Amino acid sequence: MKKTKKEISIQVEDAFENQQNLSDMVLDDGYLDIMEDKTVVVYAVGGTIAMKSDSTGALVPACSGEDLTAAIPGLSDLCNIEVEEFSNVQSSAVTPKMMLDLSRRIQKTLRRPEVSGVVVTHGTDTLEETAYFLSISLSEDFQREIFKPIVVTGAMRGASDVGADGPANILASVRVACHDVREDIPRVMVCLNNEIHAATRVTKMHSANCATFQSPGWGPVGYVDEDCVYFRNGGLQLEAGLNFPTPSRLTAKVDIVKAVTGDMGEFIDFSVDRGVDGIVVEGFGRGNIPYTMMPSIKRAIKKGIVVVIATRVKAGRVLDCYGYKGSVTDSLSVGAIMAGETTAAKARLHLMYILSQKSARELQKEDPDCFRAYLQETLDPVLSSRLFE
Ligand code: ASP
Repeated sequence: MKKTKKEISIQVEDAFENQQNLSDMVLDDGYLDIMEDKTVVVYAVGGTIAMKSDSTGALVPACSGEDLTAAIPGLSDLCNIEVEEFSNVQSSAVTPKMMLDLSRRIQKTLRRPEVSGVVVTHGTDTLEETAYFLSISLSEDFQREIFKPIVVTGAMRGASDVGADGPANILASVRVACHDVREDIPRVMVCLNNEIHAATRVTKMHSANCATFQSPGWGPVGYVDEDCVYFRNGGLQLEAGLNFPTPSRLTAKVDIVKAVTGDMGEFIDFSVDRGVDGIVVEGFGRGNIPYTMMPSIKRAIKKGIVVVIATRVKAGRVLDCYGYKGSVTDSLSVGAIMAGETTAAKARLHLMYILSQKSARELQKEDPDCFRAYLQETLDPVLSSRLFE
């Protein structure tokens, strides 16, 4: 049964007071309102959330976006729900091109005044990549004027499994998407298991557990508790908007090369030979790599290929705190760029996106140093200010 606005506001105040006692980090008001005049558009992309067991017991795509939303009690009481059937695929089949198509369609949807936000249902395997891509590809007006949330969600259990987590995740995500977004929270968030994470920091940590999404070193930017949404302060620093017009195509080729002990750089040479525009090297710890990879990296950079160094560890930034061969100091000296706290998979999308921009390619040609400083700034402003000021 719907509550009156007065009942709702009393409940909000109570919830807010209680939460303040629990933690003074939670700054936002509890949010609860019946958004009869608001619309949330659910983009169904696929994943376990839309799968059921077949006759052999294996999970296969089975539910449309309409099926998913129709099965959630109380969802349509929150706001108007519209469903866009984007695809119904496992997320290992999602490509950067699909991410770009999704981004363009979502941005068009969010320009509709009655739409308060978008929820994307997606497989969890590559969910963090799509969320990151959506975040970097929002055009400038979404950074400055249109503050509407995009909430990416999924499920670890299939729709036919006992204790399926999909319905609760969609319900919580719609609550976040109804939320009047303040300017200081990330535009693109991931919401599963009642936690809200910034697309820039979130990563899948467990192959089966429902509490799989975490932001190592950062924690969630907020959470959903019953019908209230709470945000922590300071989330905007986790925004990744690059302020380019969203392109119609991704033209750049970028590889990831995972550094291994004893690495002689052969895979970097292979990438160079196949004509890539950028290479993300996933190094160790602080971003250190075997020094035997350095000649290949130098050669790649001399050819105009952008080389970014990321790390295989889950938390913390790549940094120039060592001075030995193969350290970040060494990589910087030959012109590589550091990924900061961005994972290799996200840094690849980041490079693909920037290197597909005509204006960026022009800058790269005309003023390579300035281009390098720009790239470093977008990936890690902290290191950038140390290096380039
Ligand atoms: N394999 C599935 C996918 O990513 C996993 C999931 O959705 O949780 O599509």
